[in-house]
Amino acid sequence: MKKQKEIVMSGIRPTGFLHLGNYFGALQNYVRMQDEYQCFFMVADLHSLTTHPDTKELKENVLRVLAENIACGLNPEKVALYCQSHIYETSELYLYLNMLAYKGELEKTTTFKEKARLQPDNINAGLLTYPVLQTADIILHRASLVPVGKDQEQHLEMARNFVNRFNHRYGEVFPEPKAFNYGSELIKVPSLDGAGKMSKSENQYATLYLADDDEAIRKKVMKAKTDNGPVIPNSPKPEYIENIFLLMRLVCDDSIVQKFDQEYNNCKIRYGDLKKQLAEDMVKFISPIREKVNEILGNNKYLQQVMEQGAEKARKSAKTTMELVRQAIGLKYF
Ligand code: ADP
Repeated sequence: MKKQKEIVMSGIRPTGFLHLGNYFGALQNYVRMQDEYQCFFMVADLHSLTTHPDTKELKENVLRVLAENIACGLNPEKVALYCQSHIYETSELYLYLNMLAYKGELEKTTTFKEKARLQPDNINAGLLTYPVLQTADIILHRASLVPVGKDQEQHLEMARNFVNRFNHRYGEVFPEPKAFNYGSELIKVPSLDGAGKMSKSENQYATLYLADDDEAIRKKVMKAKTDNGPVIPNSPKPEYIENIFLLMRLVCDDSIVQKFDQEYNNCKIRYGDLKKQLAEDMVKFISPIREKVNEILGNNKYLQQVMEQGAEKARKSAKTTMELVRQAIGLKYF
């Protein structure tokens, strides 16, 4: 008998343009995984309501994220590529899981604390229960692998807790979901100003977007924080320099990274040259993706088809899981 493929699930919020962090933390893994696993990838529009209640630009953003997923190499024929709000079963599972999540643990979540700090006038319950909805998204397909960036590590740990509580209380329905990256560890793509990670909606001048034009890429890279260079051979790199090397390792040839690394160790490095090299390699990396996105965005009908086809696949899997869930909880009276 053919072995059942492991199930993969992940999502990206339509809160703005996708950036290098989304690419290397999430999308690059999605693309590799689509050939090996049964994959569900969604545009997390419901999650975006926790921080972006104004929906004027939502539709445009959803279509863009879909196009960006496809332009990066996702094949909608191979995976279920869908929009979160099209799958109503998610809300039902979210409700059940909310009964298994405790206020104390939710309040302690780093992303909750961070978002509450950023939007003190809108600390809504959805923000608090964000990891619960995320767990519902994942286990709705009984997924066990979740390709995400390092910022999501704590959420996945919470997802495992909720799953274990459910299984313990109602019987084994769900596998434990694990964060996944093809490399040895989860990745965090740093922002160019040396403060925090690249992000869709914060520090836009220090984030490289897949939609940035060549000039914008060059400008942002050339502005990255550096200093006068080391004076003692083989000194450790300050974090903001380490970050630039990390970005180089993502898009430049190994030999180039090695050359600059040696120059750093010999105190001969010229950061102007390093940044010029990085800028050109970034342009080479980003511009074909940007052009592909624009081409796909021009075909509204195709994107609608993709969304409908994806929703159909996701609904089928969701319905099967929810039958098991209702049965396990004891909500089937006849
Ligand atoms: P953002 O924080 O930019 O709004 P999302 O919350 O929609 O992004 O996350 C989408 C995916 O991209 C998640 O898997 C997340 O871990 C990943 N991701 C976001 N920013 C980064 C980053 N700077 N480095 C690595 N992965 C990231």
